[in-house]
Amino acid sequence: MKIQDTELSLIQGDITQQETEAIVNAANSSLMGGGGVDGAIHRAGGPAILEECKRIRAQRGPLPPGQAVVTTGGNLKARYVIHTVGPIWQGGHKNEAVVLAGAYQESLKLARVKDIKTISFPSISTGAYGYPLEEAAQVAVETVVNFLNENPGALKEVCFVLFDHKTYVAYEQVLKKI
Ligand code: ADP
Repeated sequence: MKIQDTELSLIQGDITQQETEAIVNAANSSLMGGGGVDGAIHRAGGPAILEECKRIRAQRGPLPPGQAVVTTGGNLKARYVIHTVGPIWQGGHKNEAVVLAGAYQESLKLARVKDIKTISFPSISTGAYGYPLEEAAQVAVETVVNFLNENPGALKEVCFVLFDHKTYVAYEQVLKKI
């Protein structure tokens, strides 16, 4: 789908194999790696990513949910990894939607600042962090589409790379309504 000048696409697959300039990591505040997509990115990208995460952590402390930082992509095809932290689902009354939207927005802003033109996102917070899938897909797609409408020409390509079929279908349902 085309939003302004940007190609927005959905793929079912492994984000570590993407060839976009940047891939986004659903990290945790420690920036020290973890399970799920975080573990997969560090495994595939090698130690250079963790080294840079450690430097960032030493400089500025833990990364609050809704914020983003950028590191090298190490051995990945992607040149950069943008690490962001989604909210842990706590029932929906703890600002989770605002924080989740912030994670997407801050990642996109960082891409714009670094002049990154192509970027892939995983489904932030819908794994270990327990955010209900349909609601998270709605926030994710809406936030990205709004950013692209407000920043025409900032990016050439934004891709959601969704690991399993169920997640892919949830994002597809939201995109169909747009
Ligand atoms: P969070 O802690 O933000 O919930 P998780 O990594 O636990 O992050 O899960 C987020 C999503 O990433 C889930 O849909 C999970 O299936 C997916 N995922 C796991 N590994 C990969 C991968 N290699 N590429 C893309 N998505 C992945």
